[in-house]
Amino acid sequence: MSKIENFLTPKQEEFIIKAIEAAENNTSGEIRVHIEKFTKKPPMDRALEVFCFLKMNETKLKNGVLIYVAIDSKKFAIIGDEGIDKVVSDNFWEKSKELMLSNFKNGEYAKGIEIAVLEVGNQLKKYFPKQQNDRDELSNEISKS
Ligand code: CA
Ligand code: CA
Repeated sequence: MSKIENFLTPKQEEFIIKAIEAAENNTSGEIRVHIEKFTKKPPMDRALEVFCFLKMNETKLKNGVLIYVAIDSKKFAIIGDEGIDKVVSDNFWEKSKELMLSNFKNGEYAKGIEIAVLEVGNQLKKYFPKQQNDRDELSNEISKS
């Protein structure tokens, strides 16, 4: 069993947080990464639970996006709130997942997550440009359970 603390090094975590900050600099959208050890649930179901638990469904423009990873279960999901979900192309989430997976397969977890953050950031920027009075509605820290 892998330890959740060992999944990402502190440096990698910092790197991902920086990527989230950089992405959010260009958009009103909010990106979060959540990591847990294990889930029995289908990853999309569990991701939705976490999404609500983190109050990601409460952003003003409904443009929060969660990247969810269950390390021992080897499951992950990306979900976006309805604001962003209805404007991206139908295969956007799937394509981003594939990009993540291709890195995960090589054990490049930090890189996979970072790529997903960048991809999501680009879409958010396109549809939800940063506003003058923008605030950080959701923490950029990686949450864990
Ligand atoms: Ca914001
Ligand atoms: Ca944020």
